Amino acid sequence: MSDKIKMKTPLVEIDGDEMTRVLWKMIKEELLSPYIELQTEYYDLGLKTRDETDDQITVEAAEAIKKYKVGVKCATITPNVDRIKEYDLKKAWKSPNGTIRAILDGTVFRCPITVSNIKPSIRSWKKPVIVARHAYGDIYKDTEYRVPGPGKAELLFTPEKGEEFRRTICEFEEGGVLLGMYNLDSSIKNFARACFQFALEEDIDVWFATKDTISKKYDHTFKELFQEVYDREFAKEFEARGREYFYTLIDDAIARVVRSEGGFMWAMKNYDGDVMSDMVASVYGSLAMMTSVLVSPKGYYEYEAAHGTVQRHYYRHLKGEKTSTNSMALIFAWTGALKKRGEIDRIPELIDFADKLEDASLEVIENGIMTKDLARLAEPPAQKVVNSEEFLQEVRQKLKEKRES
Ligand code: NAP
Ligand code: MG
Repeated sequence: MSDKIKMKTPLVEIDGDEMTRVLWKMIKEELLSPYIELQTEYYDLGLKTRDETDDQITVEAAEAIKKYKVGVKCATITPNVDRIKEYDLKKAWKSPNGTIRAILDGTVFRCPITVSNIKPSIRSWKKPVIVARHAYGDIYKDTEYRVPGPGKAELLFTPEKGEEFRRTICEFEEGGVLLGMYNLDSSIKNFARACFQFALEEDIDVWFATKDTISKKYDHTFKELFQEVYDREFAKEFEARGREYFYTLIDDAIARVVRSEGGFMWAMKNYDGDVMSDMVASVYGSLAMMTSVLVSPKGYYEYEAAHGTVQRHYYRHLKGEKTSTNSMALIFAWTGALKKRGEIDRIPELIDFADKLEDASLEVIENGIMTKDLARLAEPPAQKVVNSEEFLQEVRQKLKEKRES
């Protein structure tokens, strides 16, 4: 007889590459399997398997999230020229995150993991800044062309009914570059809905920013549709709660965000959200101190670490050296997914376990025990700088105390 927590529905478990793959296994063995009868449907998105399956495994993983509603994903390599050689690949497979997001649609929410002894490097930030990143379209689904020499580029739209639209983009007199990208009204509106919904759950304001002064149709449409969704579906509730939605130009937003106290959601288009979320995470000290979840309009959730596979640490690991890699984002990807599974399947013990695991991890750091990335920043200075395994063992010990108390 085991008194481990039982699950009712599997989680979609998406394994990845390099150092995060190593940590993934350790987290399961040290922190999860001793307490939960883990039910997962496992998809190996390690680069070798993606290559062997012609990347079908990535599509299958995304379809599985549609089936089970909740997934948890490790970091994965997006191959470039070097990786093709390193792994002897058939081709440069696309970014798995891009593929999965294109299938699920939705918005990625990134929240900093804050601890009392790491102060944000922007001193005025007292409360977390939550980044909401549209996860569909724009340059992630673009068509690009390297213009070889003189010629004419046109924008042409042929409607099903009515007159075509044709406009000259550029009369090239020499070589150059060309890019076509798009988005959909439905995806933009769902992005807005997801932001307002999430903000209400967190009880925070929403700031949305684009470059609509320059991009008078593309970005302007984002601004307009956001406002429309707000007015029609959320304004009443926001006003009743004393919460605010406000739109501003992206340049102005950056200046305001840096001067702010934090404590709001900063919603951005796909690319802006990509780069700004790394900025926000870095303000909190480490790429590993941030959670990331993709929320699709159909109610699918994918939890992940926002950082990469930590390649440099992995090469040291392969040489037999100890690394001091921070596993917080991966732990929080698992706890996020377990809590959501617990919420959907009504398993309060699972939610309670995940809360305790989060608290245990935070307390270990707040007690001055941390990996190298944080130790440089801690105030007061770290008591003990630990390697990857030691950190997980400290968390396991703390978790044990919490479950017994
Ligand atoms: P990265 O893996 O995020 O690492 C960049 C640097 O940030 C590391 O070298 C390390 O600095 C620090 N760092 C990141 N995560 C850390 C952690 N958990 N603990 C301690 N330090 C951490 O980015 P990358 O090296 O540019 O990319 C490596 C691979 O990841 C690439 O193949 C890329 O395609 C992939 N990638 C995947 C995802 C994803 O799946 N979500 C996202 C981004 C990149 P130090 O070396 O100075 O210690
Ligand atoms: Mg990025």
